[in-house]
Amino acid sequence: MNETDKNENHDRIHDDRYDVVVVGGGAAGLSAALVLGRARLRTLVVDAGEPRNAPSSHMQGYLSRDGMSPAEFLALGREEIARYGVELVRDRVTEVSRDGDFTVVRDAGRPVRARRLIVATGLKDELPEVPGVAERFGRDVLHCPFCHGWEVRDEPFGVLASSAMSVHQALMVSQWSKDVTFFLHRVAEDELSDQDLRRLAAAGVDVVPGEVAELVTEDDRLTGVRLADGTTHARSVLFAGPRPVPQTGLLERLGAELNETPFGAYPVVDQTGLTTVPGVWAAGNAIGFGEQVVHAASGGYRAAAAIVGDLLMSDLDAAVSG
Ligand SMILES: Cc1cc2nc3c(=O)[nH]c(=O)nc-3n(C[C@H](O)[C@H](O)[C@H](O)COP(=O)(O)OP(=O)(O)OC[C@H]3O[C@@H](n4cnc5c(N)ncnc54)[C@H](O)[C@@H]3O)c2cc1C
Repeated sequence: MNETDKNENHDRIHDDRYDVVVVGGGAAGLSAALVLGRARLRTLVVDAGEPRNAPSSHMQGYLSRDGMSPAEFLALGREEIARYGVELVRDRVTEVSRDGDFTVVRDAGRPVRARRLIVATGLKDELPEVPGVAERFGRDVLHCPFCHGWEVRDEPFGVLASSAMSVHQALMVSQWSKDVTFFLHRVAEDELSDQDLRRLAAAGVDVVPGEVAELVTEDDRLTGVRLADGTTHARSVLFAGPRPVPQTGLLERLGAELNETPFGAYPVVDQTGLTTVPGVWAAGNAIGFGEQVVHAASGGYRAAAAIVGDLLMSDLDAAVSG
């Protein structure tokens, strides 16, 4: 190998090695990347570009960003991380393995290496299979009253049961409207406890048994919920509980311990988001169903700050031991 080849080879290897690779460029991943970039760590964000709240045109409850579109929020985040030299590519990580460093394999780009890893891959919402629900999700079919409740306050709400746990959703949304109909759909009435029924009555929630057949719309707006028996209930908002599917495949393959919850299996993490796999942190919806945007951003920050300390101490210890 001549001198030029050697240099090129060295550059290529050097180019492929990052201090940190962040998998996922939503609120959690970008927030982590901002902290890592500002701490002068060589950081790559690999993002497949499918953030969970993409179906919604506005994002609420993030102080100072209330009402901003999710796309604009992320575009601003990408601009901010670029100021600190963080690289971001649109790609999907398909495999990660460890051999000293981590090797991160991507769908399109060549593999890269990383000393530390943040998994901020979010979760997917598996929607109930009722005609109209998927098309209207994030518009007038909603899942989270904290995200959308204010905007639809006092409207006639429906709540589509997916299990007896949906009682909680029916009760919660009554904070935003006193006109709530709870459609039991495929849940039998006797699955509800006496306490459920008493609370629903106290909240003024109408309980309607029977399978929901489809949503009724007019001029691209929800106007009603039609049951299998043909009756239609006029409603302009429907709350539904999607089944959360955590995107934890990479973590599982790395051997991370997961914890079963009623909302899926999430990695066991410490307060900084460190998983049970040394060198691998997780943040955002990848660690929990209830992580709203502000929590996800905060989790990314915590993970990044922990990594900055971890890398520094490991370099110092290596220097001390010669
Ligand atoms: C309809 C809707 C409305 C919502 N409204 C609000 C709201 O108003 N306020 C609020 O606080 N929260 C809201 N949420 C919740 C919000 O979406 C989440 O809190 C937030 O998206 C979590 O951020 P995250 O970074 O963990 O995940 P995400 O934003 O989902 O980002 C994860 C990213 O990782 C990428 N990714 C996944 N796997 C890979 C891989 N293997 N390789 C590379 N990239 C990968 C994804 O494509 C995605 O871009 C809403 C959710 C929904 C469904």
